[in-house]
Amino acid sequence: MTTKKRAAVIGSGFGGLSLAIRLQAAGFDTTILEKRDKPGGRAYVYEDQGFTFDGGPTVITDPGALRALFSLAGRKMEDYVSLGPVDPMYRLCWEDGDVFDYTNDIDFLEQQIRQRNPDDVEGYRRFLDYSRAVFEKGYLELGHVPFLDIGSMIKVSPALIKLKAWRSVYKQVSKFIGDEHLRQAFSFHPLLVGGHPFKTSSIYTLIHALEREWGVWFAHGGTGALVRAMVQMFEDIGGKIRLNSEVVKIDTENDRITGLVTSDGYSDRFDAVASNADVLHTYDKLLGHTRRGRQQGKALAKRTWSMSLFVIYFGLKRIHTHLKNHMVIFGPRYRELIDDIFKAPHLADDFSLYLHAPSLSDPSLAPEGCGAYYVLSPVPHLGTADIDWDEVGPKYTDRILDYLEKHHIPGLKQDLVTCHTLNPIGFRDQLNSHLGSAFSVEPVLTQSAWFRPHNRDASIDNLYLVGAGTHPGAGIPGVVGSARATARLMLEDFGMPVPEL
Ligand SMILES: Cc1cc2nc3c(=O)[nH]c(=O)nc-3n(C[C@H](O)[C@H](O)[C@H](O)COP(=O)(O)OP(=O)(O)OC[C@H]3O[C@@H](n4cnc5c(N)ncnc54)[C@H](O)[C@@H]3O)c2cc1C
Repeated sequence: MTTKKRAAVIGSGFGGLSLAIRLQAAGFDTTILEKRDKPGGRAYVYEDQGFTFDGGPTVITDPGALRALFSLAGRKMEDYVSLGPVDPMYRLCWEDGDVFDYTNDIDFLEQQIRQRNPDDVEGYRRFLDYSRAVFEKGYLELGHVPFLDIGSMIKVSPALIKLKAWRSVYKQVSKFIGDEHLRQAFSFHPLLVGGHPFKTSSIYTLIHALEREWGVWFAHGGTGALVRAMVQMFEDIGGKIRLNSEVVKIDTENDRITGLVTSDGYSDRFDAVASNADVLHTYDKLLGHTRRGRQQGKALAKRTWSMSLFVIYFGLKRIHTHLKNHMVIFGPRYRELIDDIFKAPHLADDFSLYLHAPSLSDPSLAPEGCGAYYVLSPVPHLGTADIDWDEVGPKYTDRILDYLEKHHIPGLKQDLVTCHTLNPIGFRDQLNSHLGSAFSVEPVLTQSAWFRPHNRDASIDNLYLVGAGTHPGAGIPGVVGSARATARLMLEDFGMPVPEL
């Protein structure tokens, strides 16, 4: 009888969970080690006074990639969790009262474009064609393959040149669309994965085609229900998860990992280890006792990192039915504000917000008649602006809630039942994120694909990486794709068959 190979996955974010499921389904004996008391990583769930708040991702796209994980394990996603479509996918609002429903209803979408600028209807169609071409190449073909050597990068260069990948998202959108609000509507997407729309490669316009192709979804019970479903299914097929188990050291011998040690005194030997934790934390802290760890830690510290976020989770005595599930509220400045978020050593006076109102789709997330909400504001990470968040946080919360009360949620403060916040310090200390970055290494062309930390380490044979800091990058579809790339390498390395999905 051959004994199964043993794999450890450090961290239970969407990337770690997806990889662990793939490995367990393929025949590895897989254990997840998670620092926190609940799985999910950025998709942590907070509960208070009958309210349930998803901590992070709320916009679920490419549900097929999640369904594939269940199929690989011989299970059906529908037996564990149900997803429903969200329409409009987002409502976008500007301070001058302009409102744009970003919807998959093409007639309504084009009607709204026409009202702003008739020429932009044709421009939008051409933009969609472009975005689809990028989606086919960048997502369907390359979104789940590892880039381990320069040759793989050279091979895709002609396609990148043809798709004008050197242009920024905003610049590319502006080639097709003239109206400034529409330019913002079709260029803000990089912010959802930690990118600056004026710097991030136009490859990221693929998010538009992806949303048009498969829509935006909501998990009944919230994103937390999706995480629980993945964990349950992983355990049903024999996987093990240890919570409250922070890995403090990865043991090595002659450039091979032998096992790992956690803060709760657990240690074990493994044939392979994949880290879903922050990439710099993995090298600098967990492998800091090795030369490779110190070298990589130093190199990663020189990269540019995505911005952080300030998130306010709040419960109200009321469900505001005039709101939409996902709302983007643009402030008075667009480019200048984003520049401040990425570069300024202080907090800007204005903000742009994402407001989430999940109780509209699922009233079970709050006590009867009440509503759960969260609002987030992109803010500089701790390396850009060393803000004293203990002091600034409460005032910033007040400013944002006052703004929401004035423009979108009348009576907000009077109806407030519960409220708590997550700031860059929380990202740093709770999630071990370098500089409190919310999305890891910044997604710019020079830090993408082969230029991004690789899914398998180049020196330590049986060390793998998965999640936002590796190819293809942040966002649920990104990290689920990274799990596919990493699993492929691990299965190949251990002589196991690689599934088609
Ligand atoms: C507020 C917010 C909203 C977002 N909204 C969306 C959205 O709507 N749609 C979307 O697609 N994406 C969204 N994103 C992005 C998306 O959530 C992330 O890119 C993705 O979830 C990251 O997954 P990951 O696999 O990289 O792991 P992470 O979620 O980063 O998880 C890593 C895990 O590793 C654990 N860990 C760290 N160090 C150790 C250690 N030493 N030992 C053990 N465990 C450790 C951490 O505790 C954590 O659980 C959002 C992100 C944020 C922050």
